[in-house]
Amino acid sequence: MVKKGTVLFGINNIFTVQAGSSTVECRIKGKILGEGKREYNPLAPGDRVFFKTDPINPEKGMILERCERRNAFLRWNKKRRAPQAIAANIDGIVCISSPESPPFRPRFIDRVAVTSSIHSIPFTVILNKNDQKISGEILERIRYYENIGISVYTCSAKTGENIDAVMDLLAGKVHAFIGQSGVGKSTLLNKLCGTQQQKTGAVSLKYNRGIHTTIFSALILCMNNIRIIDTPGIREIEIYGIDPSELSFHFPEFEKYAHICSFPGCTHIHEPKCGVRTAVADGSILEDRYESYTRIYDSLKHQREASYE
Ligand code: GDP
Ligand code: ZN
Repeated sequence: MVKKGTVLFGINNIFTVQAGSSTVECRIKGKILGEGKREYNPLAPGDRVFFKTDPINPEKGMILERCERRNAFLRWNKKRRAPQAIAANIDGIVCISSPESPPFRPRFIDRVAVTSSIHSIPFTVILNKNDQKISGEILERIRYYENIGISVYTCSAKTGENIDAVMDLLAGKVHAFIGQSGVGKSTLLNKLCGTQQQKTGAVSLKYNRGIHTTIFSALILCMNNIRIIDTPGIREIEIYGIDPSELSFHFPEFEKYAHICSFPGCTHIHEPKCGVRTAVADGSILEDRYESYTRIYDSLKHQREASYE
């Protein structure tokens, strides 16, 4: 019998699929994506699939088809020169950060923000470890994010401060958690999920943490119907899915100044009389945000050249 389920995670092309209250270990039957689609990975946590179970061993199955995605968090996989889905069918993307150890990395946050914007997925920053010192510079950046419409939650997985607010944000929804190692993502997940973590998710995470390396993403089912796609080991995000000329649309604060630019289709990189660069010079746009913009612009250009090779 063909059933529909949700991919929780996949290891070595064996995907754990949840359907109702049971999970089935599935392999993939043939080309489930059809011809001509170049993707690094056919399935990501959160994907909905059609599968059939083995009549003799109902814990095993075969995935027949991937259902159309509502959305996906994609990045460009440089090595394979193909898009890589990190999570599928999500309600929001959350970037977890910390103020001091490891240091706050606004450029990384900017990249996650741009990716979220490209796929029209709501984006939130969580600054964990708010029991540590938060510098004036970080506070300034947080205010800046809030001014351009990005919500920022500060909390502490250690002291429990503001965890209720984070739970409210996540309740009933599926979120992808992105963050560099050490920011307290697992501590936060444990706090949010406690012992209610679904068994398979719990096992996989234990395995994951146990050897302190990052292997795979997994959809974890928690209490309050909080569902989180944990994405260990994402250190870099190469933006995928847009032309360099479209990048400025994903820096919402540029819009106000872009119409002042003299050149139609100004890239805000080298053209004279550029409204955006003038705003950077007079401090209306944060210089570091502009730096994020130019770096992403360059990587998009290289990516385009690489895919033409
Ligand atoms: P992950 O690599 O992001 O999963 O980080 P972990 O959850 O393993 O946490 C890394 C370290 O940060 C551990 O020593 C945690 O105890 C610590 N940590 C986690 N959350 C907090 C917090 O809110 N405040 C402080 N001070 N330390 C925390
Ligand atoms: Zn310009």
